[in-house]
Order: sequence, then structure tokens, then C-alpha cells
Amino acid sequence: MELKIACIAGDGIGPEIVREARKVLDKIAECYDHEIKYTDILMGGASIDVHGVPLTKEAVAAAEAADAVLMGSIGGDASVSPWYKLPPNLRPEAGLLGIRKALNLFANLRPAVLYSELSGACPLKTEISGKGFDMLIMRELTGGLYFGERKTVEENGIRKAVDTLVYDENEIRRIAVKGFDIAKKRKKKVTSVDKANVLDSSRLWRSVVEEVAKGYPDVTLEHMLVDNCAMQLVKDPAQFDVILTENMFGDILSDEASMVTGSIGMLASASLNDTKFGLYEPSHGSAPDIAGKDIANPIATILSAAMMLRYSFDLDKEADAVETAVKEALKEGYRTADIMSEGCRKVSCTKMGDLLVEKICK
Ligand code: NAD
Repeated sequence: MELKIACIAGDGIGPEIVREARKVLDKIAECYDHEIKYTDILMGGASIDVHGVPLTKEAVAAAEAADAVLMGSIGGDASVSPWYKLPPNLRPEAGLLGIRKALNLFANLRPAVLYSELSGACPLKTEISGKGFDMLIMRELTGGLYFGERKTVEENGIRKAVDTLVYDENEIRRIAVKGFDIAKKRKKKVTSVDKANVLDSSRLWRSVVEEVAKGYPDVTLEHMLVDNCAMQLVKDPAQFDVILTENMFGDILSDEASMVTGSIGMLASASLNDTKFGLYEPSHGSAPDIAGKDIANPIATILSAAMMLRYSFDLDKEADAVETAVKEALKEGYRTADIMSEGCRKVSCTKMGDLLVEKICK
């Protein structure tokens, strides 16, 4: 199969972690007889340095021409980087918002996995973390409260602010379909999170999700109120498979879910549109404090590449091979500095990539 992948190395540790992910993808291509065609795209600070803007039309066109985008991370240290003396619409982060909008990426996926080898980093009690967990938060990314009309007015000397939460049934249906499709590839359970005891938008959400569920008889659907979900994530995270939710609830719950894993360098993410196209990137930032030292953890980016294989290319076997290699390396005690613990072997970013490459098709 031919895989057209656009790569945004970005800033800070971005080039180092994307280099390692490409090594892993190349090994997958070699073992499973695929051909990868990469296109390199500048974005963020790297694009500002060359073009004066964080994202060019040509960069968007190159991303659109690919089947998927693999990204490192963009941005610098705002206290020292000249990029942050520019107006907000010309700063590195504007490039990321711009590409998400241009590519209509409405579904954000963030897996939160607790590997038994890293359970020491989990802030929960051992009786809870001991069970491990492997969940995926599916968040609607382009609607709801963050995109509704907003205003601040003054009435009779009192300041008043209004934000509007709007969803139409089509916006809900398309993300629900993505959620159920993905649950079919996992443990076949969807927990739809809303606030249907109070909000009309949540009542519509619940009824459209129920309509969609009828097309997936092999997937179990449960509804959970958002306040209960926030509690359940720390009480019994093992109960979750796919959590399907709207924009603001997902924003908060996905950060909570990542915190309970305790390891930022391990967390992958993907943003998808209504085709198979997606942008895959680690959940963390560009870590300018450790850039260029070859000590960054490349695993979040490598696991994002595995998500790309699974969700954009339907290459489940290949994605499994990458995820198994990561588990094996952790089991054998290899750790980058951020996840290092006593008795383990500390390795560089490059070495971690090499180890994973060795483990694929060995
Ligand atoms: P960050 O995630 O870059 O770093 C937070 C801490 O985690 C730092 O100590 C860093 O060294 C460490 N860390 C992060 N990733 C790591 C990895 N793979 N291996 C080892 N350690 C790792 O967050 P920040 O410092 O708040 O932001 C830095 C820059 O990244 C900012 O410019 C911010 O805007 C940008 N950012 C970009 C994205 C993105 O591109 N999607 C997301 C978040 C932040």
C-alpha cells in the first residue's frame, strides 16, 4: 500500500521525536511491504523563521494532498523567543489552529493508557491503578461553547457576559459515528458523557447518540453525566473504553485522564475529519527546555504514528506491532529520562527509537 504522509517536525524537540517516529514507520513499511512517501511541511516557529508566518497556503495544500499528517510539536519559550513578540495571529500556535480549521478536523482522540511498568507514575492509589486502564477520549473539537456567539455587555451599570452552547444534530451525529467506529476496533464500549439533566444541547446529544448506536448492535452504549464521569475517572478508570463527549467537557476530561497516567511523554493524540484523513501528534508541547539534547521521550509521537496506521490507513496489524514494541521496551526496563525509575536503563531519544525499530518484525 502507498502511504502519503505529510510531516511537520515543528519546533523544540519536534524534529527529534518526528525523526524517531519516521524510523519506526520506515521499519513497518519494510516489514509489511508498504511504500511511504513523505512531504515535509514547515509550521509554527520554523515557518515564521523562513516565511514570516506560522502557516502558509502552500503548507495547507501539501497537507491536504497527503493521506495523513504526522506532527511533532510547535512553539517556543515565550519568555525568550522572538516569535512571541509578534501579534497573536502570527505566533507559532496560530499555525496549529489554522491547519486544524483548514482541514476541518472536528474529532479529537486522546488515548490515556496506564502501562503496568509505569504504574508508579500514576497518582492514584495502588488498588485503583493496579488494574491498569486503556481508554480513549473522543472530543468534539469545532462546535459547542467555544465556538458559539459570545458577548460582554453592561446593563444598568452591571457587567454581564454571555457564551452560547450550540450543537446541531449533524455535528453530533458525525462525531458519534466516529466514536462508534473506533469503539468497534477496541473493547466495543462507548460511554457518552453529557449533562442531560440540565442542558438542552445535552438532551439532543443523548438522543442523536442513541440513534447512531442502533447501527452498532455489537457496541455497548452507556450514558454518564459529566460530573459523575469526572469522579469515575479517578475512582475506577478501568471501566472506560471510548468516552464520547462534546467540546468543553472533553477539554476538561481529557486533561484529567492524561494526568492520571502520570507520563506526559507517553500520550498520543489524533484529530480527524469525516474522511480517513487525520493529524497525529503527541499530547505534549515542544519542550524547549530539553530541545537538542537527545533526551526527549519519542514514544508519544511513535504511538501517534501507530494511531495513524490504525485510523487513517486501517493497518491494524502494523499498529499493533508498534504498540507491542513499546510495551516490550518498557518491560525490558528501557526508559527515557522523563519516565526513569530505579533499576531501569536510561536511554536517549535516538536509542529508544532504535530499540523499537529492532523489536518490529524481529
Ligand atoms: P510542554 O509539554 O512542551 O512541556 C512541559 C514539561 O514536560 C517540560 O518540562 C518538558 O521538558 C516536558 N516534556 C514534554 N514533552 C516531553 C517529552 N516528549 N519527553 C520528555 N519531557 C517532555 O509544555 P510547555 O512547556 O507548557 O510548552 C512549550 C511550548 O509547546 C509552548 O510554546 C506551547 O505553546 C507549545 N505547545 C504546543 C503544543 C502543540 O504543538 N500541539 C501543545 C502544547 C504546547
